[in-house]
Amino acid sequence: MPSSLTCVKTGERQVAMTQIPYPDAPGPGQALVRTTLSTICGSDIHIVDELPVPAGVPMGHEAVGVVEAVGAGVTAFKAGDRVVTSCLVCCGTCARCMEGDQQVCETFNSPGNLLFGAQGELFLVNGAQTSMAKVPDNLEDEQVLLVTDIMSTGFGAIERAGMKAGDTVAVFAQGPVGLCGTAAARTLGAGLIIAVEAIPERQAMAKRMGADIVVEPADAVARIMELTANRGVDVAVEALGQQATFENCCAVVRNGGTVSSVGVYGAFPVLSLPTSGSFMHRKIVTTLCPVGTERMNRLMGLVASGRVDLRPLFTHSLKLSETVAGYDLFRQRKGGVLKIALRP
Ligand SMILES: [Zn+2]
Ligand SMILES: [Zn+2]
Repeated sequence: MPSSLTCVKTGERQVAMTQIPYPDAPGPGQALVRTTLSTICGSDIHIVDELPVPAGVPMGHEAVGVVEAVGAGVTAFKAGDRVVTSCLVCCGTCARCMEGDQQVCETFNSPGNLLFGAQGELFLVNGAQTSMAKVPDNLEDEQVLLVTDIMSTGFGAIERAGMKAGDTVAVFAQGPVGLCGTAAARTLGAGLIIAVEAIPERQAMAKRMGADIVVEPADAVARIMELTANRGVDVAVEALGQQATFENCCAVVRNGGTVSSVGVYGAFPVLSLPTSGSFMHRKIVTTLCPVGTERMNRLMGLVASGRVDLRPLFTHSLKLSETVAGYDLFRQRKGGVLKIALRP
């Protein structure tokens, strides 16, 4: 029976590297994958520090790897295939999956459909047939890893806002997801792109990803209204997960415009909706990360054609065995950290 040195939640605000066993032969619909590149996500910090997720959970839901073995019913992949794995797994056949909302798959919904264990040498993928995608030979791991989660979330934020070519877009917070939102706005044809961020390294990265102007959070609303001649933006993206940011998004969206919320409000069980101004004349959309084979193929197509290059987001590199140190680094948001490449 193979075992995997994997980062596991061991208590509140605690993770440790632990050996966990995996079956030689994956069960029906499953694939066993050997990790070649993984990373730490903002959601991991919510899971470890804030959410009532029990100890013992194998961490990590973003990975590129090589298939070791597949179970019955998995015909699209075989041992030796190089794959990316969606951060949320899906069955491909339930009503939600058939409608293209694989992120809220009805089959894998209890307690949730998050992929677990990708911060380990090996991990098991449920719904492998529709939750993985083959990586083209000419793309390296760093080019495709983010299609599993944050690139898809950032692009989803812009797509679900119904952004039109030439729209003015504000993206609040330039952490990894916000930066992907900024890159998406540029790739999908936004006009003026305004990023909101206070950390200097992230301000610089926002420009690199496509922001025309970066404003400080403290006076973001006033600056954005000034930059848009008091009209407001067509689309405002919330990519932090805080009440104040959400309210600022509502304040800067023009009448008929859209607030697109993708921040994880992990520590805030209630988000209240500002009703001042013209709340009935705005659209508010939220989304979980869009997932599944075709979604990842589409995003890898953008990468392969050179439309998007998110490799600069990998600011740090550690061994998989050093993942625990990576959590501390990521939590502190110091040293310009955005994404940490974890390699076996
Ligand atoms: Zn994530
Ligand atoms: Zn499904």
